Amino acid sequence: MNQTVRCFFTLTLTLALIASAIAQQELPKPYGGTAPDAQIPDDGKVRIINFGAHPDDAEIRAGGTAVLWAERGDQVKFVSTTNGDIGHWKEAGGALALRRYQEAQDAAKVLGIAKSVVWDIHDGELEPTLANRLKFTREIRLWNADIVIAHRPNDYHPDHRYTGILMQDSAYMVGVPFLAPDTPPLLKTPVFLFSHDGFQNPPFRADIVVAIDDSIDKKAAALALMDSQFSEGGALGHLNPRAVAAVADPTLIPAQRERTVERFKSQAEGIANRYRDKLIELYGEEVGRKVKYAEAFEICEYGRRPNRAEILRLFPITPPKSVQ
Ligand SMILES: [Zn+2]
Repeated sequence: MNQTVRCFFTLTLTLALIASAIAQQELPKPYGGTAPDAQIPDDGKVRIINFGAHPDDAEIRAGGTAVLWAERGDQVKFVSTTNGDIGHWKEAGGALALRRYQEAQDAAKVLGIAKSVVWDIHDGELEPTLANRLKFTREIRLWNADIVIAHRPNDYHPDHRYTGILMQDSAYMVGVPFLAPDTPPLLKTPVFLFSHDGFQNPPFRADIVVAIDDSIDKKAAALALMDSQFSEGGALGHLNPRAVAAVADPTLIPAQRERTVERFKSQAEGIANRYRDKLIELYGEEVGRKVKYAEAFEICEYGRRPNRAEILRLFPITPPKSVQ
């Protein structure tokens, strides 16, 4: 090798090493590159993770919007933070947890979402502990979430409330490199949202209302498959004579499923009517007035505060086919 070639080779190698060092610096790696699970890389799709306390909550609160997200190629993951093992009046324990896990998978298939997972934490026993905060933080990071959804912390059920608390406790921590350093921190700040409820102390504020006219049928069909919760009445089914009758006589289940479909259509209709002004603001006067079914979300102030343009990009806010 003559002098010129050696010089050229050394220069090329030096430049390559500098470029590699710069590339390395772009990503903080306090975890030393030893993360057990790789974070899913950004691919231009919106990545949504919805924490519900029980296998049915994410489906009830955001099932219609999830269908619309999935249909435009966005990646939706539902996480049930408990296994639902006391969510029936006549059966409980591992067998019920397995039954509800299967119901969540069946619903996910109808909704067309990417993933539905159920944590093995007993129903009614979720606590806002450090261990669960780390669990939330890792789950959000690994999904590389742009949008995180959970219950409000004043919802009626303790598991719902603590799911909301744990989401808020993780909102800042998802970006902090040395908390849970085995899982790479997010390099962006997600939008954190509360899903809709009717509790009044304080009242829900509808910041984003999504028309689900084109997905209400899939949402209602998915929920109708969750027999343990609706056809059979769930944890308080013994107070519902139709649910008691359906458990005794399974030929009554199809009629119960039809009632479930009507129940959730009517709920989504109520949300559209209650937040009509926000529908008009987001969809325009003509479409906003005609929307029949909706889901609503409140922006949590701890994460990213999206402006109107970002809301229109992140959410499937396009006029439903049925009202065009
Ligand atoms: Zn629940």
